[in-house]
Amino acid sequence: MKILIADDDLVSRRLMERVLERSGYEVVTAANGREAAEILTEADCPRLALIDWMMPELDGPGVCRNVRSRHDSRYVYITLLTSKQSSEDVVLGLEAGADDYLIKPCNTEELKARLRTGVRILDLEDKLVEAREEMRYKATHDFLTGLWNRGSIVSDFDRELARARRENGAVTILICDLDHFKRVNDVYGHLVGDEVLQSVATRLAKSVRSYDMVGRYGGEEFLLLLTGRDANLAEKRAEEIRSVVAGRTIETSSGPLSVTLSIGVLTSSHWGNELTANQLLKEADKALYFAKANGRNCARIALPFPLESLGEVRRSLT
Ligand code: GH3
Ligand code: MG
Ligand code: MG
Repeated sequence: MKILIADDDLVSRRLMERVLERSGYEVVTAANGREAAEILTEADCPRLALIDWMMPELDGPGVCRNVRSRHDSRYVYITLLTSKQSSEDVVLGLEAGADDYLIKPCNTEELKARLRTGVRILDLEDKLVEAREEMRYKATHDFLTGLWNRGSIVSDFDRELARARRENGAVTILICDLDHFKRVNDVYGHLVGDEVLQSVATRLAKSVRSYDMVGRYGGEEFLLLLTGRDANLAEKRAEEIRSVVAGRTIETSSGPLSVTLSIGVLTSSHWGNELTANQLLKEADKALYFAKANGRNCARIALPFPLESLGEVRRSLT
C-alpha cells in the first residue's frame, strides 16, 4: 500500500521511510505541506498519509483542510505527527480533518499499529463504496439484459426532452415490442425466451450510437432514445433497428430462432412543447399498436394529427 510521508526534517523523514518500507509500504515523500497537498490531489495518490504538523508553506492542519475540502476523491487516512501535545492542539488537528495523531519522536511499533488501523478503515471504505456502486447499478439496470431499467430510461427521456426543448433540438423514441413472443415461451420454454431477450438486447445496444440510450421498458418491450442529429433520421434508424433483429436468426440452446420487432416511433420536435414525456410515450405506444395491427415486423411513426382525418400520417416505414 502507498503511503505519503510529509516532513521538512530530512533525518526524521528518512527514518520513517526506512521503517515503513521494511513493513511493506510503498513510500512517497514530500518536504513541505504544499508538495504534500499536491501529491494528494493526483489520480493514483497514496490513501495513507503521515503529515508533520510544522512545515513550511502549508502546515499539517492546512494539508488536512485542503484534502477534506475536496469531495470528489477517495478518502485519505491522515495521521498528524506533532511535538504539540496539549488537548487544544489535538482538537485543532482533528477538527482540521486528521484521523489520528502521533507525538514525535514516535515509537515505531506504535506507528505501525496505528497505520494498520488506517488500512482497516480504508478497507471498510472500499467495501462501502463497492456496495453503494452495486446498489446503484441494481437500482438502474435490468437484471436479465443489463440494459437500463424502465425507471432509468424514462427519466433519461424526461431529461433529454427538456434539453432538446431548451436547445431547439429533438429526441426520438422507439418503443420496440417483440412479435408473438408468447409463442417463443410456449413452444421453447421461458429460459429460451430469456435467451432471446438477452440477444435482442445486445443487438439493440450495439446498433445505437454511444450517446443514444437503450432500456428495457417492459417484459418484451425495449425503449430506445436517439438524440442529436440522429433524432431527425427517425424513420431510417427505425428501419435499421427493425432489420438488426429480423435480419438474422438468434442462436439459442434450442437452436436458431427467428424473431421480429414492431416499433412505435416518435420525434419530439413534431409535437411542439406542450406534452410531457409520459404523454409522448403514450403516443408512441399508439403508433406501436398500429404497427402491430398492420401485420407486425414494421415501424409506424406517431404524428400529432387526428388519425381519422389524416389516415396517411402514420406511414408505413417498411
Ligand atoms: P404481440 O406480437 O402482440 O406483442 O404478441 P406477444 O405474444 O409478444 O405479446 P403478449 O403481450 O401476449 O406476450 C408477451 C409475452 O412476453 C408474455 C410473457 O410471458 C413474455 N415475457 C415477458 N417478460 C418476460 C421475461 O422476462 N422472460 C420471458 N421468457 N418471457 C417474458
Ligand atoms: Mg410482444
Ligand atoms: Mg408487449
